Amino acid sequence: MAVLSRIPKTLTRTTTSSIKPISSYISRSFSSTTLNSETDLKVPSFLSRNSPPLRQEPKDRNVQWVFLGCPGVGKGTYASRLSSLLGIPHIATGDLVREELNSSGTLSSQLKEIVNQGKLVSDEIIISLLSKRLEAGEAKGESGFILDGFPRTIRQAEILEGVTDVDLVVNLKLREEALLAKCLGRRICSHCGGNYNIACIDIKGENGKPGIYMAPLPAPPQCVPNLIQRADDTEEVVKERLRIYNETSQPVEEFYRNRRKLLEFELPGGIPEAWPKLLVALNLDHKDKHIAAA
Ligand code: AMP
Repeated sequence: MAVLSRIPKTLTRTTTSSIKPISSYISRSFSSTTLNSETDLKVPSFLSRNSPPLRQEPKDRNVQWVFLGCPGVGKGTYASRLSSLLGIPHIATGDLVREELNSSGTLSSQLKEIVNQGKLVSDEIIISLLSKRLEAGEAKGESGFILDGFPRTIRQAEILEGVTDVDLVVNLKLREEALLAKCLGRRICSHCGGNYNIACIDIKGENGKPGIYMAPLPAPPQCVPNLIQRADDTEEVVKERLRIYNETSQPVEEFYRNRRKLLEFELPGGIPEAWPKLLVALNLDHKDKHIAAA
């Protein structure tokens, strides 16, 4: 894809199919954890191996990016747009959790309780769900990833860093006042999974801070009858999710800042303003604007 030639050297990949995707190593390693033995797990076994994990040079593989940011900031929106643009899987651990809690699996009711209180699921469960997702992707020939909502704790960050090199961590930021409204306005199409928003955010600038306008993101007519709200997008639960995020995110940001992988990106407004600027920040702004504008 032409767009990849303009990604900084460290972020490029080849498309050689014979090259083993690093995600296979991650998934094999992660698969040493299982959903049912949570209490037995202290440290995933691959972390205590003596030999260092196999790491591939960035030029030999697809990009491995992470999106951090508060609930409602738009991680899913931008990660999924980049996923389409670059042809790299977008893996949102929140989606994996929701799939599991909607299934008839043994963890379902336990997860429902945790998620509906706005709490974090244990590192073991998340790693196990991610492992399964990576393995399934690998079986389909996927490689590289844009992770959304993972890592959320230092332990998760250490585990990821222990098995592969993340190239870049994008830390999306948005004015606090907008976050609650964005979560409460979020609507999901229960058929296609599309993410829309009915909130119209118009915060006036004050004390030197610029104002911010974010237009609603309306669902296409075919999705309208199928729109649902996430059970954890209620005011009480969103406030708790924001509180927990603010409590746990700093060490994770620091972890990547110290490794010079953190790209801070303050959202200037809605998608029309933010998307082109994000592409510039990621060095993906180029002549193929029709692709980037999609
Ligand atoms: P999200 O869609 O990212 O807001 O995630 C929804 C919920 O899934 C969160 O509130 C957590 O309960 C759970 N969750 C998602 N990702 C993680 C993670 N990396 N660690 C722990 N819990 C998570």
